Amino acid sequence: MADSSALPLVILSEQFAKLPGIGMKTAQRLAYAVMSMSNGDAKQFADAIMAVKTDVGYCKICQNLTEFEVCPICSDDNRNKAVICVVETPKDVSAFERTNEYGGTYHVLHGLISPINGIGPDDIKIKDLLNRVSQGSVEEIIMATNPTVEGEATAMYIARLLKPLGVKVTRLAFGIPIGAHLEYADEVTLFKALENRNEM
Ligand SMILES: [Zn+2]
Repeated sequence: MADSSALPLVILSEQFAKLPGIGMKTAQRLAYAVMSMSNGDAKQFADAIMAVKTDVGYCKICQNLTEFEVCPICSDDNRNKAVICVVETPKDVSAFERTNEYGGTYHVLHGLISPINGIGPDDIKIKDLLNRVSQGSVEEIIMATNPTVEGEATAMYIARLLKPLGVKVTRLAFGIPIGAHLEYADEVTLFKALENRNEM
């Protein structure tokens, strides 16, 4: 932003520019948009940002983001609790939910094993998954991590841990290009990947 701008606008622009996909020019435009809001709207906007940090946590069952102790999917009696779809991020849950075809539950890992980035099995929610499965009543785990090197390696690592627990482990059949990300897959592609899953 030009030096002539008021300092609070510069600071707000810099905050917007930290967001993914927001360049400095867009950030500046957003800062001016906030400037032109009513005081009430600006307060609502600021409160919404804080609420995300204070009111949203992990579901104690599936680790998805929720404002409840147990998320709406895990507490829905119509969902098949015997099937767990294991994904990397909450955004992947949204992608599967958009298909309207999946009736099971999820488990969100919040990352993938990545030795090169210093992320080991204990840094993601694998133990929580094993705890869920060892409580019995789970019949199938669908490994739905992205078809990237890290996604495949994480799927294989978890499958190895799950097999001795006597649970069926399947992997999405990817019509999705290798290296692609689930959250960008269209509903039909994702549904097909789910429908044609293979046993690992
Ligand atoms: Zn949940």
